[in-house]
Amino acid sequence: MLTAVVGINWGDEGKGRMVDLFAADYDIVCRYQGGNNAGHTVVNDNGKFVLNLLPSGILHSNTVNILGNGMVVDIEHFYNEVNHLTDQGIHVGPDNLKVSDKAIICLPFHKLLDVMEESRLADKKYGSTGRGIGPVYADKYIKKGIRMEDLFSPALLKEKICGVVDWKNLTIPGYGHEKVDPEEMYEWAMKYGEFIKPYITDVTLYLRDAMEQNKNIMFEAQLGALRDIDFGIYPYTSSSCTLASYAPIGSGIPFAHIDKTIGIMKAYSTCVGEGPFVVEMSGKEADDLRTFGFEYGAATGRPRRVGAFDIPASRYGVKMQGADEVALTKIDVLSYMDKIPVCVAYEIDGEITKEFPSGERLLKARPVYEYMDGFGDITKCRHFDELPETAKKYVRFIEKEVNCKISYISVGPGRDEYIKVD
Ligand code: GDP
Repeated sequence: MLTAVVGINWGDEGKGRMVDLFAADYDIVCRYQGGNNAGHTVVNDNGKFVLNLLPSGILHSNTVNILGNGMVVDIEHFYNEVNHLTDQGIHVGPDNLKVSDKAIICLPFHKLLDVMEESRLADKKYGSTGRGIGPVYADKYIKKGIRMEDLFSPALLKEKICGVVDWKNLTIPGYGHEKVDPEEMYEWAMKYGEFIKPYITDVTLYLRDAMEQNKNIMFEAQLGALRDIDFGIYPYTSSSCTLASYAPIGSGIPFAHIDKTIGIMKAYSTCVGEGPFVVEMSGKEADDLRTFGFEYGAATGRPRRVGAFDIPASRYGVKMQGADEVALTKIDVLSYMDKIPVCVAYEIDGEITKEFPSGERLLKARPVYEYMDGFGDITKCRHFDELPETAKKYVRFIEKEVNCKISYISVGPGRDEYIKVD
């Protein structure tokens, strides 16, 4: 069984929490895109864990976790995250964590370039997390990336690093920064490379064999459909493909077919960083939702922009992900509202539409709201029948509008705080 668990919205939908829940049934969990720019927060019986690079399956003792070739990996961050989890009592080793030999290494100068460019852009910035993800993906596609496998060939590694740093040094002084020392970059790669080397594997072979043995494999996405480099709110997207259809490629098994895609969709909207966000709330309304939902970035601590559930955006996200079913998260957060706003359509130049636009049409879109009745505390509900009628109505309405079955309803961050809808 091959299952993709992906984000329907702008990210931060609670994917980590749902993967943690599902992981018990899977032998292998793969991350297939992105780097340490996102943060999954998982709360379980052993405590609270923030995962940036590692798949959420790492919290299950029998699950093998993969960082696929589609990822970009800051190896210093890898070192820190592994050590931090070990300190928290989680076993992490080459037996339960494997890194693709084809994954790209994110170096310190990528972070530097990311931060300098955002600062140059000032109020026109993209809202990058400053972790070097955009610059390192650009290097991958211009074929100047350093791969994990290069760590095993020090002379080649040095040559490659010197080559790419020479090229970067043509632009870095233009930002008013001193040139980067290639020797320093090489030393850094060797230092953290030593740590990561035992984890580096030909992941394609490993996963091919696992498929032949009928193992259950899960693909875990970072971010959501609306941050996809092609189909998201470009250019305010991530630099990778966040969609389910890329999962087999980015994991290392492009020949695989996904059996099921579960879309994780939040019961209201949040968005970190810049870019058009049609349903954005402001003032007290926003402060309340941010406070009740504790909407601060797990990777950056940045306050998230918040808004009502957005039907045009979510319907589009469900479609782009090819979701077979949806897990609706954080619906308990809405319990403080008497009337719950839902954006049912956009108005663009006087025309009402339910289609999610791009380009200038998205910038011009204004929300059209309907209001649903509130439902109070639902955190103790474990069966759909136990939900108040108003909560059932909210779920059913959303289900109909996004045109996809809601099979899970998450009513709290804890592992058992959810409803399985039959
Ligand atoms: P991810 O990046 O998609 O994994 O999402 P984040 O981890 O950034 O954000 C999800 C946050 O919401 C985490 O702090 C979770 O513990 C929390 N969370 C997840 N599901 C629920 C839920 O149903 N209710 C509440 N109240 N919190 C939740």
